[in-house]
This record gives sequence, C-alpha cells and structure tokens, in this order.
Amino acid sequence: MAKFNVHQCPVCEHKIFSAFISCKDYFVSGEVFHIKKCNNCGFAITGNIDDEENIDYFYQSDKYISHSDTEEGFLNEIYHLVRDYMLGRKHRLVNKVTGMNNGKLLDVGAGTGYFLNHMNRRGWQVTGTEKSAAARKFAKSEFNLDLLETNELFDLKDNSFDEITLWHVLEHIHRLPENLETFHRLLKPMGRLIIAVPNHDSYDAQYYEEFWAAWDVPRHIWHFKAKQMKMLGEKYRFRLRATKPMPFDAFYVSIMSEQYKKTKFAIFKGLYRGKLSWIRSMFRPEKSSSVIYVFSKN
Ligand SMILES: [Zn+2]
Repeated sequence: MAKFNVHQCPVCEHKIFSAFISCKDYFVSGEVFHIKKCNNCGFAITGNIDDEENIDYFYQSDKYISHSDTEEGFLNEIYHLVRDYMLGRKHRLVNKVTGMNNGKLLDVGAGTGYFLNHMNRRGWQVTGTEKSAAARKFAKSEFNLDLLETNELFDLKDNSFDEITLWHVLEHIHRLPENLETFHRLLKPMGRLIIAVPNHDSYDAQYYEEFWAAWDVPRHIWHFKAKQMKMLGEKYRFRLRATKPMPFDAFYVSIMSEQYKKTKFAIFKGLYRGKLSWIRSMFRPEKSSSVIYVFSKN
C-alpha cells in the first residue's frame, strides 16, 4: 500500500527533520506513528502514513463524531452542546471578519453539514466539500445540502468566495500546498480565510505529551503552532489578521487524553485540566488548545 512521507518542509522548504514524539492511534488501529519536526522552522509532521487513496481505513470508527454524528456517550453529549454554541460563535466570526451577513461561503471538509446549514439559514450562499460519502449523504438527507467531493474543489471558479472556512480540517489534508494555492485562487480580493486547527503549543498538549488526544495520528498529518501557521500563510500570499482561542476544545481534548491514559475519574480530571488550560490561554490565544487563524489575501 502506498505511503505518504514528506521529505521537504511545506512551511520553509528545509529538508532535514528530527524525531519529535511518537503517539498511538487510540481511535481505530492501535498503531504507533512517529511525528518528526523540521530542523529549521519546527513544523511537526506525522511520518509514514497511508496516502490519500488508502487512509479511509483510519476513519472507520463510530466514535468519529465529526463524520458519523452518533449520539452515544457522555463526551458526545458534551460535543453536541458545544457544537450548538460554536455554530453561533462561528457565524458571528464570519460576519465580523468579512463585514458581511449574506455573502458566498465555502466550507472545506464540511462534515455532516451543520455549519453550512446554520449559515445557509441565516442568509449565506453556501458551498461545501466533504471526503466522506456517508457524511455527504447525511447532509443531503438532513439539510438538503449537496456537498461536493474533495476533488471538485479544484474545479471551482476564481474569485468566487467572500469567505473560506476550514474547521479542524487543514491538519487532515494530504495535498497541503495545492489546497492553499486553490484557496487563494477561489477567494475574492477582499475575502477572508478562516483556519481552525489544534495547537501543540497549548498547555494541555504540553501536559499530556504523547497522550494528547489532538495528535490524533495518523488522521492529523500536520501539527501547527502559531509561528508556523503565520509563515505558511505568508508563503501562499495570505496575511494573518487575527488569532483567536477555541477554549472549549481544551475540555474535550483533556477528557479524551485522560481516557487514553486510562486514569480513574477521567472526566473529572479532564475537566480540571481543561479548565487550567482554558484559564492560561484566556489572554494568549496562541496557547489555546485549538486556535482560529483569520487570513486575508496579501
Ligand atoms: Zn520547516
């Protein structure tokens, strides 16, 4: 089976890497994956994973809620409560950064379509891409949304979107350079690009080390910190306009990390650790468990 290995840093083009951290896939396979770090800029990349055509196996879990929308378990209940709150927050953020309330929106990796449905009902013209056929089917039956397949992204017209969003998606995308080039091409001159990703510079990442749930190997290929995200944006002619925290992710990720460690009272310990992480990142978004980056075209 073909493997995906990166030999040149997509952020700074350096070619020498060092071993960084080894983590287990707790979700699906139980396999261990090794994350390496660029010796120049420090960008972290999961090594020796399956290529784009073959990685679907690692997404086959009922627990993978962003795709399957199952309702089981305490964590999923929290997830759904938080999702409803976050839909409102994302909507306000998109309106604020674009200065519009009814433009054209592209959501890349739209999952089961909750965000696009929310935006569509509030006046935005929406387009979405999604790799999972099951998620696309759900979006169609639940919200009557016709999500595009991943490769259809590259056929969309130049300068056609006021806003492009990726909510916890960029870290999953094999073809990082092609995607960033395409976002630049698809965005209108005054458009905005919003990218939300986990942050391994966060307090919870540093506390949980290899148990940190947001390493999520091998599904997460790229592991971002604020510095490299800014550099990556600049490389593709984007300018970083704002950095915002996603505080709820600290709770969710900390509880999952405690479960991976098999500690007793994982939920309570995770809530405690999540709260510490949240407090410590309150005035430092670049230390938040997950971070939202807002870019404009240069
Ligand atoms: Zn680098």
